[in-house]
Amino acid sequence: MTTGVIQSTTTKTACPYCGVGCGIKVEASADGAVTLRGDTEHPANFGRLCSKGSALGETIGLEGRLLQPLIRGKPASWDTALDTIARAFSDAIAQHGPDSVAFYGSGQLLTEDYYVLNKLAKGFAGTANIDTNSRLCMASSVAGHTRAFGSDTVPGNYADLEAADLLVLAGSNAAWCHPVLHQRMLAAKAADPRKRIVVIDPRRTATCEGADLHLPLRPGSDAALFNGLLTHLAKGGHTAGAFVADHTTGSGAALASAGSADAAVVAEACGLEPAAVGQFFEWFATTPKVVTLYSQGINQSSSGTDKVNAIINCHLLTGRIGHPGMGPFSLTGQPNAMGGREVGGLANQLAAHMDLGNGAHRALVQRFWQAPRVAQKAGLKAVELFEAIGAGRIKAVWILSTNPLVSLPEADRARAALAACDFVAVSDCMRHTDTTRHAHVLLPAAAWGEKNGTVTNSERRISRQRAFLPAPGEAKPDWWAVCAVAKRMGFGAAFEFATPAAIFREHAALSGFENNGTRDFDISGLAAITDAGYEALAPVQWPLTGAAPQGQPRLFGDGRFFTPDRKARFIAVTPRPPVQAPSAAFPLVLNTARVRDHWHTMTRTGKSPRLSGHVFEPFAQLHPRDAQALGLADRALARVSTACGTMVARVQVSPDQQPGSLCVPMHWTGEFSREGRVNPLVNAVVDPVSGQPESKQTPARVAPFAPAWQGFCLSRSPVSTQDLDWWVQGLAAEHQRTEMAGDSLPADWDAFARALMGAPAQGAAWVAYRDALARRYRFAAVRDGQLEACIFIGPDHALAPREWLGGLFLKDRLSDDDRASLLAGRPRAASEDTGPVVCSCFGVGRNVIARAIGEGCGSVAAVGDLLKAGTNCGSCRPEIGRMVGKMRAGV
Ligand code: SF4
Repeated sequence: MTTGVIQSTTTKTACPYCGVGCGIKVEASADGAVTLRGDTEHPANFGRLCSKGSALGETIGLEGRLLQPLIRGKPASWDTALDTIARAFSDAIAQHGPDSVAFYGSGQLLTEDYYVLNKLAKGFAGTANIDTNSRLCMASSVAGHTRAFGSDTVPGNYADLEAADLLVLAGSNAAWCHPVLHQRMLAAKAADPRKRIVVIDPRRTATCEGADLHLPLRPGSDAALFNGLLTHLAKGGHTAGAFVADHTTGSGAALASAGSADAAVVAEACGLEPAAVGQFFEWFATTPKVVTLYSQGINQSSSGTDKVNAIINCHLLTGRIGHPGMGPFSLTGQPNAMGGREVGGLANQLAAHMDLGNGAHRALVQRFWQAPRVAQKAGLKAVELFEAIGAGRIKAVWILSTNPLVSLPEADRARAALAACDFVAVSDCMRHTDTTRHAHVLLPAAAWGEKNGTVTNSERRISRQRAFLPAPGEAKPDWWAVCAVAKRMGFGAAFEFATPAAIFREHAALSGFENNGTRDFDISGLAAITDAGYEALAPVQWPLTGAAPQGQPRLFGDGRFFTPDRKARFIAVTPRPPVQAPSAAFPLVLNTARVRDHWHTMTRTGKSPRLSGHVFEPFAQLHPRDAQALGLADRALARVSTACGTMVARVQVSPDQQPGSLCVPMHWTGEFSREGRVNPLVNAVVDPVSGQPESKQTPARVAPFAPAWQGFCLSRSPVSTQDLDWWVQGLAAEHQRTEMAGDSLPADWDAFARALMGAPAQGAAWVAYRDALARRYRFAAVRDGQLEACIFIGPDHALAPREWLGGLFLKDRLSDDDRASLLAGRPRAASEDTGPVVCSCFGVGRNVIARAIGEGCGSVAAVGDLLKAGTNCGSCRPEIGRMVGKMRAGV
């Protein structure tokens, strides 16, 4: 793409999406063109990028950007906007005390942004009411680590995934959520087929492709499975006796809690085949080098912390921690979830991995910051924080770099809370999000590509994010805005930072302050880094001290942990069911998940046509048995309801889903859909230790949604959705696609079509086809020989192939045959219908791949040779592999 650049050189930066933290090289040429590719020297990815990272170039344009401060929707100067925020916060603190204000951040913030935000809240505003969307993502891992290790430490690194002989993925669809890591795992297995992969997940996901064993356990039964494993390990004599005796405490209680159940009993509790459980237990017991990776399927649970500890217990009992190829491994969702933890961005943390509940730590931080006060107790965690806003206890809140009205559970309740709050400031790079609509003051934030700072990935590796674009309009980095507000609140001396490098130096110095090896997070070796050194900083793993300036790939290899007695703690775990069980009214279990090509609330990936093509709209995946019982056909629309809310989704009938469960993606927002948000349906029940919501187990029901009509519109220009009862919108190549439905039939379809198109309808030649009896309507508008828009309406979802019609927008001129087939609603040849995109790098559709397999391509490699599909980023290879397997098996 072409855009303004600040230098015509190569810039090394890091991907802004998931916690893998891939390095990216950006080439900016003198004519303004920007090219992105994987950084072959970055240890996280060695040049690989997934579909999202590969498409970053499509997301850096200025469409939809917020370019100046707004106060109540009206342009304002930065000075006025900052004064307004500072006054609102100072007034609230003066009148109602420090805990009447709150800050809500994000794993998208850079460490330097996060550091000053946390410093302002806990050290100067005097409140620990600062939480982050990381609470929704990995708070249970933080709590589990802290209970077991005395510190929030990820012991290993990515090289351990290649060194391991057994990889266990629990509650992790890494193929879609951490694709580059998954590719590293598959490459290691391909190089040594004796390596094994076990996937533990109620759903059959893309990660199961290439796995040796899939355990589709009953939702929520993970702790029972790992307790059973602990028992099996102990009974079978697989205990690392000396390690357990010398370096741990609590094994007796943990084993007593785990009980004496054998594999058959555990299998019964988890809804699994006894032989499969026995196989998993045996592999784990007899494979010294084993890494257990876990993610949201473990964390997002009302007993998520216990599940994390049930996993860690198995590694402690076998002594498999801190050495190459072994250990528990939490995969973080966001690019800087780890950096946020390092600066104490959660309401129950202090900076530099210190403990808010520890008086000595509070005193240390206050001394270091020269702060007038330090918050004395833990603040409100995300769900509690928005409840407090709704109850009027929080008078002023500042939300940075996140969209909580989409991502929080019971999101409509959070929306009502924010709407009623006395003062809401939001910093975002996008003008319109579900959350920015409620901002009294809206600050234009610099976006990825415009910001300088650091992020930390899942393996404790700190990487630089570097700017390669100038900040557009009046956009500013978040650290600058936070410091500017802090100065206006009277805390200037502590926030006189001129650059992110200066903030980083202070952050590094605090990590080493009175540390002496007592705390895991120590990057004091970087405390004196120069501006030039910061600019050139290569990716490095913490801890990094003067004595160990190269960083440390693993911790705990010496058997010393960060508890007071330096021993790791086993945690006795008693499995608990989800807080709310299915009932007659809500007989199914709703599980929320991610799709391969979208990220969080789509503010960035929604800008990329190629990323939008893989999964276009929210779906509800159901087992065929449930779908049949409920009268739901594949591709029909359904209404999903829980005790908290309701939404509409496209039915996806699949044996990948267990009977009794359904899965809905979490990405769609009010900006991209009407009734497409799933989080209003999710119960706001949380884990009692971590405060993380149970986003994967809300009782739900599903019923057919039978509107009077369904349809879609493809258009070069934006269409008006204002009068539509249901819609989903997204970008495609050279056009925008809108899926829609209505409760009643319009009296005049032509008038409907013109109203939908708005001004672009004028001046275009258009033709229409109506069949009132069949309730079918087709409309096509052509301008200068090119397709301007087409609309297809019918009584159900069985309409013309969107991908074929989308291809007509790429033509300079429609032929007579194109025009004829347009109104007929079907391509002249089946080969013109490519189907939904599978390979987003090369735009290869499902139907094209299916035809290639049908004509003899018998492997992923053969499909790649013929179509190039899967030969770039590789994110689609599991999906292609699944298609090859199914078609060869005649399924
Ligand atoms: Fe970005 Fe993909 Fe790498 Fe994650 S795996 S950091 S999304 S390129």
